[in-house]
Amino acid sequence: MLFRNRLLFCNLTSFLPSPSPPPKSVSFILSFNKTIAYSTHKLPESKPQVAATRATNQPISEGTRFAKTVLFVPPGVDPEDVTDEMILPGSNIVLGPYAGHSHIKEVEFVKSSGRAKDCPKDNRPEFAILGRSNVGKSSLINALVRKKEVALTSKKPGKTQLINHFLVNKSWYIVDLPGYGFAKASDTARTDWSSFTKGYFLNRESLVAVLLLIDASVPPQKIDLDCANWLGRNNIPMTFVFTKCDKMKASKGKRPDENIRDFEELIRENYKQHPPWIMTSSVTGLGRDELLLHLSQLRNYWDQ
Ligand code: GDP
Repeated sequence: MLFRNRLLFCNLTSFLPSPSPPPKSVSFILSFNKTIAYSTHKLPESKPQVAATRATNQPISEGTRFAKTVLFVPPGVDPEDVTDEMILPGSNIVLGPYAGHSHIKEVEFVKSSGRAKDCPKDNRPEFAILGRSNVGKSSLINALVRKKEVALTSKKPGKTQLINHFLVNKSWYIVDLPGYGFAKASDTARTDWSSFTKGYFLNRESLVAVLLLIDASVPPQKIDLDCANWLGRNNIPMTFVFTKCDKMKASKGKRPDENIRDFEELIRENYKQHPPWIMTSSVTGLGRDELLLHLSQLRNYWDQ
């Protein structure tokens, strides 16, 4: 399968400071400058709403929260046909025809690896979960798989600095990566994290996308922006998963939606086509089902 169906963001590199080699696959991602509908309507539990609305061609609603943010339009969807109903609530993600079964029935820990070349070799599609320590990575993994012991496995002594593979429904992987930016870590520890994890990103051919977790309860952090820009420069597909979005009334500072908007604006300076993003909360369950649907469409497209 290699890079054939990776969801790369076209022309990204030409908007970044140091150009890297051209993507190894054709890009199928299209984006366009329509405002995002921050809709509150729910998708049906069982069947995802997909691009079956070609005839209606309704305009995007005016009820926007993140003006001028571009949509993530997946393969199989004509941007001109996107309607409110196709946009996952609390995100810029349009649901397309590749979205499908997203229910997690079983999860098993497979192995911890110290290097990319030690990771499982069965070429199943995988999503790497990455973020600063304390961003809510373990909580999100627990919420996604609804099992506490999964993320606990990664938090066991000796495992936090390894690449941990969890097999979902015997068909795809969630990969828990070490958190970055430990406040107390020495410079040496940070460098080690960097070279070790970068090796994984650059060499892992079954990596469908990185879920880059960003804490929405605090203003944009340079280390997160640096990480996003590094991934972008290297053509690693990513989805921004904003965590802690339940903290809507921060006692001081900005609200999560304002922090997200600020982050998006900073990111937009470096991207022509904007990566998908979604708001989540492990406390309220916000975004859980939507994120799983999004993963299903990326996975099914990659796997076709
Ligand atoms: P990790 O170090 O990235 O694995 O972060 P954890 O999952 O251990 O979470 C760090 C802290 O943030 C813990 O105190 C969690 O209870 C808290 N936390 C994680 N997710 C959320 C969330 O969605 N909402 C709120 N309010 N707190 C969260």
